[in-house]
Amino acid sequence: MKNSIASKIIIGLLAVSAGVWAVQSCSDPKPDPDGTTTGSTTSIPSKAHVTPPDFNADSSYAYVKVQADMGPRVPGSKAHAACVKWMSETLKKYGAEVVVQDGVVTTFDQKKWNARNVIASFNPENKSRIFLAAHFDSRPFCDNDTVPSNKSKLCPGVNDGASGVGVLMEIARNIAAKNPKVGIDIIMFDLEDYGQPENSGFPPMENSWCLGSQYWSKNMHKPGYFANYGILLDMVGGKNATFYKEGTSIFFAGNVVEKVWNTAANLGYGNLFIQEPYGEFTDDHLYINRLTNIPTIDIINYDKERSAFFSHHHKTGDTMDNIDKTTLKAVGQTVMEVIYNEE
Ligand SMILES: [Zn+2]
Repeated sequence: MKNSIASKIIIGLLAVSAGVWAVQSCSDPKPDPDGTTTGSTTSIPSKAHVTPPDFNADSSYAYVKVQADMGPRVPGSKAHAACVKWMSETLKKYGAEVVVQDGVVTTFDQKKWNARNVIASFNPENKSRIFLAAHFDSRPFCDNDTVPSNKSKLCPGVNDGASGVGVLMEIARNIAAKNPKVGIDIIMFDLEDYGQPENSGFPPMENSWCLGSQYWSKNMHKPGYFANYGILLDMVGGKNATFYKEGTSIFFAGNVVEKVWNTAANLGYGNLFIQEPYGEFTDDHLYINRLTNIPTIDIINYDKERSAFFSHHHKTGDTMDNIDKTTLKAVGQTVMEVIYNEE
């Protein structure tokens, strides 16, 4: 996952025009056909609030640790295969219909890989659906590490990868106990994090990140698959995490961003979910938004002070030591509050 240059002007203009539209559409009350006036007293039946189950941060933390203990889940490794097996078996145990989608992709170094996206569908017959996603692969080199000899080491990928999966596995455990009204698909993407590093010695490759989600976006696991929207989680377990309203998410799915950030504020997580647009990142949601018609947002830890992701990003220090249950809880409970209140 990488930081990219923000098209802030375009987003700004869209935000302004959306604001104008919103103001216009909420303006004067309109007369009803029978001559009476429809105003704020008109009763639109308000949906009853659904209290979702309790997202257990200890359980989520344990799911993160299972992956950390496997070792780096880099493509082609035993840990990678073990993680696919563990996710598939666990999600089946929680009552999901599970598909492992295989597809051949080529990385910047001209290697071919069998990308394995793990897709779990809860209540697959329900036409009203939301998907939740994370990537489970680890970056095969810690190119951000400040120690030169560490740069070629495999990344532990605990916050960057395992944390998103850990939150989604805990949500799956809760869905097994109590169904939301909508169908939920949980997608664990492969090969998100094999993007071309600087000075790789290979010719520049366009779109070298997010290969699993690019494959899925072009080859849906079910013909005609659709979800009302998608929520991607990336780096959702770090200490003192902050989540800004990311630019690509606002551009393609601004209403979902508002819903999620307002929900977080109502739950008391406004200190993590900052009510401010910031950044624009190349992550799985970018390709899903570009290649499918499913509006998708990214909840991703960004440190505005340092203009960087969390401090151990793509470093050997991305281990369990830096995982905070408070962050897992804030993200998991917010996402559950949102999905259990959808129809
Ligand atoms: Zn990464």
